[in-house]
Amino acid sequence: MRLRLNGLNEGYQTIVETIGAVDLGVENPPFANAIEVSLTIDKEPKEIKIAGQVATLAVFECDRCLAHFTQQLVGDFNLLVTEDIPKAKTEIYEDLISITPTTSEIDLTAYIYDTLLLSVPMKKLCKPECQGLCPVCGANLNEGSCQCSHRSGDERWEILKRLSTTMTEEK
Ligand SMILES: [Zn+2]
Ligand SMILES: [Zn+2]
Repeated sequence: MRLRLNGLNEGYQTIVETIGAVDLGVENPPFANAIEVSLTIDKEPKEIKIAGQVATLAVFECDRCLAHFTQQLVGDFNLLVTEDIPKAKTEIYEDLISITPTTSEIDLTAYIYDTLLLSVPMKKLCKPECQGLCPVCGANLNEGSCQCSHRSGDERWEILKRLSTTMTEEK
């Protein structure tokens, strides 16, 4: 997404745009749907402050049961676009684009992409209480229990028991 600087007015303005995942320019982004970008812009003679909000619906595969599910991703970024780099260093802006008086447009694609990536959860679960798949027969335990006697907690207790036995033996 490119922002034309000479199209901006002095002072505050808001720009809302919807871009496609393909516009991010990366191969197979994990977000297949449209991305809502909302920019609050404060333009002064030599610098522009941009507060960006990014939202999209992502499709993930559940870490436990492998089912696909959609989840909303929301994130924001703060950007200082300036001709005055020394001053910029004292500001608290996370990101910085340096421009010259002749710069006509800036590219926000990387900031939008990074913001979305940072909002991807570490653990992707279709629901917090997802039961996952039976490790023996592969049945989806969210749809009911299978015929196996296996219960997901048992294995971990076995390992702990074995560990404590080993530790006792070592004494
Ligand atoms: Zn799941
Ligand atoms: Zn099973």
